[in-house]
This record gives sequence, C-alpha cells and structure tokens, in this order.
Amino acid sequence: MRVLVMSDIHANYTALMAVLADAGAVDETWCLGDLVGYGPDPNAVVEEIRDIPNLTCMLGNHDVAVIGKMPLETFNGDARRSLTYHEKVISASNVDFLRSLPSNAKVCGEATLAHGSPRDPLWEYILNTLSARLNFEHFETPWCFVGHSHIQCKFTLNLNTDRVSLDQVKPDVTIALQPKSILNPGSVGQPRDRDPRAAYAIYDTEARTWTPRRAEYDIAEVQERIRAVGLPEKHAARLAEGW
Ligand code: ZN
Repeated sequence: MRVLVMSDIHANYTALMAVLADAGAVDETWCLGDLVGYGPDPNAVVEEIRDIPNLTCMLGNHDVAVIGKMPLETFNGDARRSLTYHEKVISASNVDFLRSLPSNAKVCGEATLAHGSPRDPLWEYILNTLSARLNFEHFETPWCFVGHSHIQCKFTLNLNTDRVSLDQVKPDVTIALQPKSILNPGSVGQPRDRDPRAAYAIYDTEARTWTPRRAEYDIAEVQERIRAVGLPEKHAARLAEGW
C-alpha cells in the first residue's frame, strides 16, 4: 500500500494542492494534523482534506484552538492573530470535521501516528535525540510518524547499542525503515527546515520504505493572500525562506 503522509498544512491551500498533485495516486492518506493556523485558507484546506478518500487525520494543537477547546492565550501573539481570524471565518461544518478528529495517538498497521509526539500528542515537539529517546518507550509499533516541528527528519533507536541518532534525510532518497524509528514528513504549508518547498513523504507499507519529498508551489501568491486578509507579515515572510 502506498500512503501519502503529510502534516502541518496550516491553511495553505496552494501548497496542499501542489503536494496532492506531486504525490500522484495513493491508496491512503495520513494527515498528522494542524490543518489551520497561520495561513489564509482555513476553509479551503479543511474542505479539500475532508474530501480525500481513505483518509486518516489527526487533530493538531492549532485545530484544537480553532474549535474552541483551548484558550488562544496559549499561543504567541502572531500565531494567535491568525487563530482569531480562523475562528471567525471557519464554517460550522468545517468545525464539526475538526471536532471529529482524534487527539490521541493512533495505530495504523506498523505505524503509530501522532501530531506532536506519542506521549504528548498535541503539544510535545520532537526536535532532538533527547526528546526522541523519551518517546521511543511510548509506542509499540516499529515506527512512529509525527509532525508539529515542521522539520523533515528521522530519529532512529539502535536496538543493539541503545543509542538514538538524528539522521539526515534527503528529498527523493528512499529510506529502508528499521525498528525503531520516529519520522517526520515535514510541513506542507509552513516548512521550517530552510527548504521553502512543501514537504511530505510517501510510505510504502509492503516494501517498508519512507521517501521524503518536496513540492514547489507559488509562494508569492500565498504571501499576497496572507497580506490581503491582514494576517501578520511574519507568516508571509517566513514562507519564502522556509523557517
Ligand atoms: Zn504546526
């Protein structure tokens, strides 16, 4: 089975459409959450995701804020301004969809899915080998897929040496998966690993492989729409640099 794994779309419809086109035909789509927040297109993104066949979708921390289950004060000023706007414009049926998403980690075959981390699915960032190590005890499957940090990367626990490594991943270079690993497909709508292209991954369940990928999209057009609706300039600027 060929699975499209993506996360952190953040209301960037143009980037989402570029990823769906670039991925081609897939059997399933696994979305690790944060459909909204930051970008100009919360409704268009949620509607597009809702229509994807064979979808498994997790709840992200920005999604929780927009459905009113978490005070917006939890977020920093710029993130909060976008969430306030999204809360205002999001349609009732899109809120219903977000409310239906699971906030706990979920097992799909050999993979555990979580937005942030398996031990703290909504909030914890797995950014270094220490936070990765603490999470290897919190899932039973051979691998775990997470988003939230917006960084395309892979952590491996070497079962012989008991050491955790942060491994380089390169777009289009397929990785043979080894137990145990934590993999992040990167962010579709707001990459923070200095590559501004939309990030995602293709997971092959039979071959047990993971291929990180990047898709180009019209960043300037999204920046214009961010400015047009009066969202913070920072959210527009960072898209061009990928941070
Ligand atoms: Zn996010």
